[in-house]
Amino acid sequence: MGLEQYLTVIDDSKDTLDVLADQIWGCAETAYSETKSVEKLTEFFRKEGFTVKDKAYGIDTAFTASFGSGSPRIGILGEFDALSGLNQIAGLVEKKSEHPGAPGHGCGHNLLGVGSAAAALAVRDYLKAGHPGTVIYYGCPAEEGGSGKAFMAKEGAFRDLDAAITWHPGTSNVVVTNSSLANFQVLYSFEGTAAHAAGCPELGRSALDSLELMNVGVQFLREHMIEQARIHYAIVDAGGYSPNVVQPTAKAIYLVRAPKQQDAAELLARVDNIAKGAALMTDTKVTRRFIKSCANFVSNRTLEKLLYQSMQEVGVPSYTEEEYALAAKYTATAPAGSDRGYDELVSDMLIPGDIKFMKAHKKDRLWDFIVPYEEIHIVKATGGSTDVGDVSFQCPTAQITCMTLAPLTPGHSWQIVSQGKSTTAHKGMRFAGKSLALAVMKLMESPDTLKTARAEFDEVMADQKYIPIPKDAHPVAMSSLY
Ligand SMILES: [Zn+2]
Ligand SMILES: [Zn+2]
Repeated sequence: MGLEQYLTVIDDSKDTLDVLADQIWGCAETAYSETKSVEKLTEFFRKEGFTVKDKAYGIDTAFTASFGSGSPRIGILGEFDALSGLNQIAGLVEKKSEHPGAPGHGCGHNLLGVGSAAAALAVRDYLKAGHPGTVIYYGCPAEEGGSGKAFMAKEGAFRDLDAAITWHPGTSNVVVTNSSLANFQVLYSFEGTAAHAAGCPELGRSALDSLELMNVGVQFLREHMIEQARIHYAIVDAGGYSPNVVQPTAKAIYLVRAPKQQDAAELLARVDNIAKGAALMTDTKVTRRFIKSCANFVSNRTLEKLLYQSMQEVGVPSYTEEEYALAAKYTATAPAGSDRGYDELVSDMLIPGDIKFMKAHKKDRLWDFIVPYEEIHIVKATGGSTDVGDVSFQCPTAQITCMTLAPLTPGHSWQIVSQGKSTTAHKGMRFAGKSLALAVMKLMESPDTLKTARAEFDEVMADQKYIPIPKDAHPVAMSSLY
């Protein structure tokens, strides 16, 4: 019997795994507040015989769960944080919430964490059968807005791994070959002097003026930066709601992104100068607080190929007519232009046959196939960022996306929250678990593949510079900033 025998535990534990994912969906805790979700996951791992380390790397809601001993050491990454404001009734094909404004699992991390746990469970059975090696599940908090993995990486969390793999819920089954943008997030706080806005305006120094001038300055900067860079901001304090008072405080969080960390850091230095200039113009003070950063994702082709093979060997789940029909209803709610991602995926393809295949399936009710994989050497950066980037700077890393959502479901949307407990989502989660587990076992069986992955990692890293999170920076719950 081959390695497939160890995957059966994932189907045997179907009920436990599905319930766990649903429970975490219900917890819907945002960055660095994921205490209940962590409790549920660690309880699961303890029951299954893993060694659990709570509050790992000095972070309250980070943990590791490991099984086995010695080399090779393979990491599986799990996430479980939700997004603010996205609460939504599960299974309803219409935007409706019972708790408007409350958080919701708008990125599918309830499935991500449990799918990765399923993979660890299967690898445990393989190790139990007497094979050497260690599997380590990383319970990574705050992927959204908190860069949990970057803070874990600061403590060297992933350095002694031979490889790390993960997955993300999505609309298709595909190996992630793209890079992602590096980013820095900084809070700028302006301090001025309050005064009666009509009686003695000459005594006032407006912090809000500074913030507005900063925003205008950055607006001019946007014309003079590299094309793939992005600068976003959110005003978290506008100095109160009284127009007859000169505003004494104003704060904004800036998020600066670029394809490489070095580019993002240089851009951030220019934003810093604009903030200083704005304070100088208005005779106010500005202070800067580092919140978080994450590195660009550097994938490993050797691991990508292995993940692709594993997905193919596991084979995609089959779906019922009800599941196809429901998916079509969700797709009908997608905003215009949502199919851009699909078209981009097709435009990256090198083989005419694959392009034809993908075009023919565009209107399918579920993308229930594995997107053909071809080693794509032109590494494009996607519009977003992920803290998996920081892991990819410490060991060979790769990731896949598995289908849990109807075609064209937009990112961070009520549609994702609504579909987060569906049978289609559960099937995709278990498919992810099996694919990751098979890849880990193949790696444990093949020191040569690990060696090739490491050699590729060393070669690629020679061209990259890693800027870790400053030693004195600590994770910040975004909700505490305003
Ligand atoms: Zn997300
Ligand atoms: Zn996500």
